[in-house]
Amino acid sequence: MALMTGKEYRESLRNRRPLNVYMAGEKLENPYDHPIIAASINSIALTYELAEEGSPYRDDMTEISVLSGKRINRFCNIHTSPEQLYKKVGMQRLLGQKCGTCFQRCVGMDAFNATYSTTYEIDEKYGTDYHERFKKYLLDVEERDLVVDGCMTDPKGDRSKRPHQCKDPDVYVHVVERRPDGIVISGAKAHQTGCINSHHALIMPTVTMGEEDKDFAVACVVESDDPGITYIYGRQSCDTRLLEDPDGENMDAGSPGFGGQEALMVFDRVFVPTERVFMDGEYDFSGMLVERFAGYHRSSYACKTGVGDVAIGAAQLIAEYNGAAKASHVKDKIVEMNHLNETIWSSAAACCWLGKKTKSGNYLIDLLLANVCKQNVTRFPYEIARLLQDIAGGIMVTAPHAKDLQNPETSEMVKKYLCGADGVETKNRLKALRLIENLTMGRAAVGYLTESMHGAGSPQAQRIMIARQADVQRKKQYAKDLARIKD
Ligand code: SF4
Ligand code: FE
Repeated sequence: MALMTGKEYRESLRNRRPLNVYMAGEKLENPYDHPIIAASINSIALTYELAEEGSPYRDDMTEISVLSGKRINRFCNIHTSPEQLYKKVGMQRLLGQKCGTCFQRCVGMDAFNATYSTTYEIDEKYGTDYHERFKKYLLDVEERDLVVDGCMTDPKGDRSKRPHQCKDPDVYVHVVERRPDGIVISGAKAHQTGCINSHHALIMPTVTMGEEDKDFAVACVVESDDPGITYIYGRQSCDTRLLEDPDGENMDAGSPGFGGQEALMVFDRVFVPTERVFMDGEYDFSGMLVERFAGYHRSSYACKTGVGDVAIGAAQLIAEYNGAAKASHVKDKIVEMNHLNETIWSSAAACCWLGKKTKSGNYLIDLLLANVCKQNVTRFPYEIARLLQDIAGGIMVTAPHAKDLQNPETSEMVKKYLCGADGVETKNRLKALRLIENLTMGRAAVGYLTESMHGAGSPQAQRIMIARQADVQRKKQYAKDLARIKD
């Protein structure tokens, strides 16, 4: 098959065994039609739809596989040049522009590339055959065009303890049994992006492990519909607005067509066959896998520049609707928003073009600049959102309910008093305001702000990497040379 259509992707989810999905205190009989989940499926489905034959974005969304020589979705690709790394972030910006939220599929792609090079180096040291196994697995993923959740973040419990010291070992995923034909794992992964919308989950360790943490140093793939997995859906700010008028315009939901998804994923004695195990006890490679995955994913946060493009467009739109577009301070604020957004993009692009070949043959982004990119992402979207709120005005949080616009008793008053510039329909102005509300404080703000802060590692994680990569001693020497200091 090699490439699924959006429709085939949606069907492929329904053709699975029933998933154990809990939301708001209830087990969902049919998760796929639930308006909150359906919005998040729409976002991932875009990664298929834009790749379909005839789509103007087909080249952005697809690549020729280095493993099979066939055309595959870029989300399944092993990147083999700086150009391919750059095309990856370009695709992510494009998708951010189209859905204005998290499209979820990047974690798997980043996990593929990190696991690809790490397994090669494990085999080199230990004579294991993880890399060949992983390549075989990837060929299957490519061929069936699957979504794979890259599962890294364990709940961790008491952060002062190493995995093996935890009172309850289940706060980290770990091997509980080894059988001749595979392993059995238990534990959990927290805030898993798109996990219910994925076909598989590629589990990776979340921290650098020591020898006593051997059972926690595990990388493997499980089927998302394994009966041993339970999903507890994460709430998003204003998520229940998606339940209002789901078949109509649903104006108050801001951008009702799309959503992100995060859930707590609990594994209760899930069996993993040997061919899907890619690290089992090689604790000394856990750090490499974490660092490489985090590096790829930090460059992937170029996705936020796509959402930033939507934010900038919304600022221009509401400025025009308000009749304020010609004010010099508004123009200047929009320049500043662009400056911030393109600064993120510069670091995203640069870390790709400075990517280097790993021993396995794929390319790893420049780790220093990828961490700078993500550090920018932890800050600039907040400033862009602040400027957007500034331009929008307070009406974005005091506008009445969509139903008050429909009620004949109040409709004319709402239209008359909440109008904007001459010729602008009040309803359109309100829709733009709801979009801005959603981007800066609603469901989409989960992706644009909080996820920007904590996704792919909280700000301090990048600062540690920047400290490690920045080679300050070399810089100190430059200063000493110029000052003619000789020790
Ligand atoms: Fe992709 Fe961005 Fe969502 Fe991460 S936050 S999965 S990079 S869209
Ligand atoms: Fe993320």
